[in-house]
Amino acid sequence: MTRVLLTAVLIAPFVAILATAQAPSPTVTIRAGRLIDGRGGQARDVVVTVNGDRITAVGAKPGAVTHDLSRLTLLPGFIDTHVHLLWHFGKSGRFDNTGETADDRLKAGLENARVTVMNGFTTVQSIGEPGDLTLRTALEHDSLPGPRILTSVRQINERTDVPRGNRDQLATPDQLRQAVRAAKDAGADLIKIFASASIRDGGKQTMSDEQLQATCGEAKTLGLRTLVHAHSAESMKAATLAGCTQIEHGVFANEEVLALMAQHGTYFDPNIGLVLQNYLQNKDKFLGIGNYTEEGFAAMQKAIPLNFQMFKNALRVPNLKIVYGTDAVAGAHGHNIEEAIVRVTDGGQKPMDAIVSLTSLSAESLRLQDQIGAVAPGLQADLVAVDGDPLTDITALRRVVFVMKGGRVLRQQ
Ligand SMILES: [Zn+2]
Repeated sequence: MTRVLLTAVLIAPFVAILATAQAPSPTVTIRAGRLIDGRGGQARDVVVTVNGDRITAVGAKPGAVTHDLSRLTLLPGFIDTHVHLLWHFGKSGRFDNTGETADDRLKAGLENARVTVMNGFTTVQSIGEPGDLTLRTALEHDSLPGPRILTSVRQINERTDVPRGNRDQLATPDQLRQAVRAAKDAGADLIKIFASASIRDGGKQTMSDEQLQATCGEAKTLGLRTLVHAHSAESMKAATLAGCTQIEHGVFANEEVLALMAQHGTYFDPNIGLVLQNYLQNKDKFLGIGNYTEEGFAAMQKAIPLNFQMFKNALRVPNLKIVYGTDAVAGAHGHNIEEAIVRVTDGGQKPMDAIVSLTSLSAESLRLQDQIGAVAPGLQADLVAVDGDPLTDITALRRVVFVMKGGRVLRQQ
């Protein structure tokens, strides 16, 4: 008797899981007036069939549908490979979080997550702090609207894990390898590295070639991707040669280093359309804090046209994989799509290429191309509908009227 009871107790959870898995998933159909599939294809009057959290069919289909979006353009959920989801303006209205509790920070992050997904971004990579994990758990636990979150949990620079009291020393390769292992143990999906100074401080290389080799080498051994903040051409070159997988910003990139990145298959994530513009628009909320000085703002103002020219140069480099990232900070969340609009209007990118970057190419950079980034059978049902045709008017991407993430409708007209 005891044994039977025990068996029943042990089996019960598994039976429940099986029942969930075997229950027929409700089938949902969506008719799109225009479909842009994320891989460079497009079609008119298409029905997308969704079972549970997956897309099961895409094609012509007469008859009634669950969601008639025949006046809209349907796309895969957007992907931002570089955000700071917890950054926000504090109680003073400025970028000053003194006096805040961890719960205040979490609440701000939940709101940032909500506005991000409501504007079409169903996956983001947060670069990154331990609070990202709390945020991800809170979203999942309470079924709150937010994007799928990947996080670096922490960031690594030239002085990481140097013991207190020795702060004038640089980290040894062993200390950096240890920091990479610690990040993985803490739950990091990727490693974030600072190879150069901030644009507000000139952007020069700050980690040595040897430090970069140790950090990116250890990450590679552990199967982790590496995102490297780098502005100067020499810091980008060092990161590329060290085998790091993606380079952020790159305002001072030259054609030689961009060609080297293309040759090594290093992803490039230029941020030309949102982060600096957002800092300038919200200058009064940042000025006087840390390196947000008048000189820093002057450097950011100067970098905007440099970025446009650098991006035009990057577009001319054959086989360079330009992914989508905004570096969304306080004030920028929910406006992530502005980067795509600027890449097209000021950077000269073709709208279809900007959309492929925003979807399937960014999914590939996250090693999630078999899960997200396209409207195709077998992939997650992450779908966004916009009012207008972004191929002729890229600003249509701002007019999001429908969002589905993993088969769940989060926004509807
Ligand atoms: Zn950043």
